[in-house]
Amino acid sequence: MSTPPRTATSSARSSSVHFLCLRCETRLARSSGEPASPCESCDLASSVTAPSPESIIERCAACGHEELYFQKDFNRRTGIALVVIGAIFAPWTYFLSLLGVTILDYVIWRVVKDVIVCYDCQAVHRGYPPNPSLKPFDLVIHDRHVYGAAPPGAEEGH
Ligand SMILES: [Zn+2]
Ligand SMILES: [Zn+2]
Repeated sequence: MSTPPRTATSSARSSSVHFLCLRCETRLARSSGEPASPCESCDLASSVTAPSPESIIERCAACGHEELYFQKDFNRRTGIALVVIGAIFAPWTYFLSLLGVTILDYVIWRVVKDVIVCYDCQAVHRGYPPNPSLKPFDLVIHDRHVYGAAPPGAEEGH
């Protein structure tokens, strides 16, 4: 029983769940190994704990919902900002800055891990191995959660 050495990046293997308090909607975070504790803001009892870092996330750790999606843990706007900065400096750097940020953007995109997000409560599960049965964000599933079983105006046949 030995875990294979994974020393490519020696960053601490910690996982966490970020979710909103059901009452006051404060953003709460629980790391794996941390006991469940009430909301820091309104003291509402919460039994949410983060599963251990090796867990495959199959249901939301915050609400138990089974429909989840994954997405890059990277704000796309940061990437766009990088490209804009590169473009601004392009005339002075013989466009090397543009090339630089393009590479940087690509590298960030490759290095950044996926996070698993709950369709129902938007809880974010960070630092877990990918679950092959999950799919990227799907607007149709998202709308079903926001608007109910059927999209507005759609008549479901019997
Ligand atoms: Zn609260
Ligand atoms: Zn959830």
